[in-house]
Amino acid sequence: MDSTSSTPTMHSSEPRNAEEFATLVQPVLPDITDHQIAQLLQYRDMLHARNQHVNLTAVRDFDGIERRLILESLRLVPVVRSLMDVNGGDVMDLGSGGGIPGVILAIAMPESSFTLLDATGKKVAFQREVIESIGVSNIRAVQGRAEELGHDINWRHTFDVVTARAVTSLSALMELGLPFVSMKGWLVLPKGVEIEDELFIARKAAGKLGGTIVSHEVMDDAGSDVDTRLVLVRKDAATPSDYPRRVGLPARSPLGSPQDQATTKSKSRKRGG
Ligand code: SAH
Repeated sequence: MDSTSSTPTMHSSEPRNAEEFATLVQPVLPDITDHQIAQLLQYRDMLHARNQHVNLTAVRDFDGIERRLILESLRLVPVVRSLMDVNGGDVMDLGSGGGIPGVILAIAMPESSFTLLDATGKKVAFQREVIESIGVSNIRAVQGRAEELGHDINWRHTFDVVTARAVTSLSALMELGLPFVSMKGWLVLPKGVEIEDELFIARKAAGKLGGTIVSHEVMDDAGSDVDTRLVLVRKDAATPSDYPRRVGLPARSPLGSPQDQATTKSKSRKRGG
């Protein structure tokens, strides 16, 4: 029933049952419980159903949701755990959208508290429905912009780990994410494999923002068919209070990129005149 053949099919894949799904995810998380499996499947079904009407993710079929979204997110669990205390910590999923990876991590890591942040109301509304339906008490969903909340003292420098998947460029993620991270905390950023150019720019951005890109290893394929490079960034110094810049700028003129220098120059010319 796996649609791993290279022939494109028009029909959607069949959902895995609990036993088949457990076989898929146990190699990544051997101690996952039946209850967690049931919660993940409930989330899969809600995401699949709502995605027919509301654009929550480009991954539309059951097999894709199971492997590319859920399995890929579960692969982050051992990494995120290794970066925190054994008792867990505070994790933010920035630009969580339909809840990826935040909802999946929260189900798998009941010892930690998760904040899902997204700018789009209908996505946050869906996240709240999921939280209520599957009965997870360690997640809250907040609608807002990282550029604004990043300056709020209740949010700034307060998270042990910030994750973000498929949100924006690495450089922009440094500026949007690092303000939320507490000292010696981490950004955990799954990315595509070919990111040499992005990394070059992001290193310069990280330097300005108090972060250090510590590693960018390719993760082993665990049956997801997705090649991922996991970028890990440690916060080594406070982020200067000028950052993040105003809404839209981090993504539009990423720090460390040629566009950024252009913006800086034209802005100072305008201010001067
Ligand atoms: N992480 C999800 C969603 C990716 S789409 C997934 O992997 O499927 C990117 C999401 O980031 C969108 O829902 C968008 O609303 C949100 N987003 C982009 N920039 C943002 C910002 N500056 N602050 C808050 N949310 C943002």
